[in-house]
Amino acid sequence: MPTGGDRHARELIWGRTPDTLRALNRRRVLRAIMVAPATQVHLADFTRLSQATVSGIVQELQRDNVVAVDGTDNERGKKIGLTNVRGVAIGVEVSYDTVTVAARRVDGPRVEVDRSGRGAEHGSQAWMRECVQLIRDVVRRTGLDETDIVAIGLGIPAAVDPRTSTISQVAWALDWERGADPGARLQEHFPGVPVIMDNEANYAAYGEHLYGGGRGTETMLFVKSSTSVSAGLVIGGLIYRGRHGLASEIGHLVMDPNGVVCQCGNRGCLETAVGGARLVEQVRRAYVGYRVDLPTSLANIVERAKTGDLLCRRVLQDAGRGIGIALARTCNLLNPEKVFIGGELGRAADLVIEPAVQSMRLHSLGGMFNYVAPMTVETSELGLQAGALGALAYALTVDHVRQN
Ligand SMILES: [Zn+2]
Repeated sequence: MPTGGDRHARELIWGRTPDTLRALNRRRVLRAIMVAPATQVHLADFTRLSQATVSGIVQELQRDNVVAVDGTDNERGKKIGLTNVRGVAIGVEVSYDTVTVAARRVDGPRVEVDRSGRGAEHGSQAWMRECVQLIRDVVRRTGLDETDIVAIGLGIPAAVDPRTSTISQVAWALDWERGADPGARLQEHFPGVPVIMDNEANYAAYGEHLYGGGRGTETMLFVKSSTSVSAGLVIGGLIYRGRHGLASEIGHLVMDPNGVVCQCGNRGCLETAVGGARLVEQVRRAYVGYRVDLPTSLANIVERAKTGDLLCRRVLQDAGRGIGIALARTCNLLNPEKVFIGGELGRAADLVIEPAVQSMRLHSLGGMFNYVAPMTVETSELGLQAGALGALAYALTVDHVRQN
């Protein structure tokens, strides 16, 4: 438990220390340890600093009683974690119908997570209110308080321009505008705390890469399929966003030029075929006139499919096939090492994965699957927490020296 003598994480990494290269590197190493306790080799990899530099900084931090090495000696194989440091990092994933918030103390692995059933589709005021309340609740559960928040990562269901950190493509179904900055609105509730905003699928990919099944991968793609369909791409440990933050928007690959109009303004996008609302609509239409409770959400359909409802199973299998075709095209361009399917559809596991892989095999270059180390397609190991955990980690990696 923290004591009055603890150092504050916020002060350690963003306080006004001189901007010498040494000080910058020291903060970089500290932030990396906050993302996850790690060996010196891993820290060097993550920070892109030399092992000699990392080793020197770790010794200095040990002398200052800020980090502890798991073991008796400062060997490279031992994990380095924080000690006597007080701080909590927050990750938020705003989806259409939910807000998920994760909190993790920077000195330990335990994560507190909470979720609200009022997401972006309930309007900006509603989700913001829920979000602020959830953050306060989860922080309290870590035993710390609001003044201990080090950073907040905010994932939203819209494209975010990496140069301006504002919304670069309007999500028509939401009450947002191009150039809007929900991150700044959230920061008003937590003054002085950096809020780093990005697309929620980018954060989900980053979370899976750091803490889930994507650990150690060079190139991985994470498809988040819930109400909307989006994806995040991590290459060499970095989120690939493209010029306007519109990279890997798999949900808007055109599957049928004469298909249904999509919320993006185009026609026949993948999202119009496999988005949550469309799947719910298919099941409801099939059951009209029968004495059956009609599903109201994609989560309902997944639950029913798991208990054997053949109609729901078929709808999910077809969705898997559709996603597989879009993935085949994407993989022919990117040739990733691993593909993850997350969001609500990820919870349907093999019901979606198997048909998706069948489609991918039919429509992509076979070498990806036949090679000695074939590409794999898996459900997200972190499930519905991927986005919030990725947001939490990413917010810690960004340097905010100038903001306090
Ligand atoms: Zn579209």
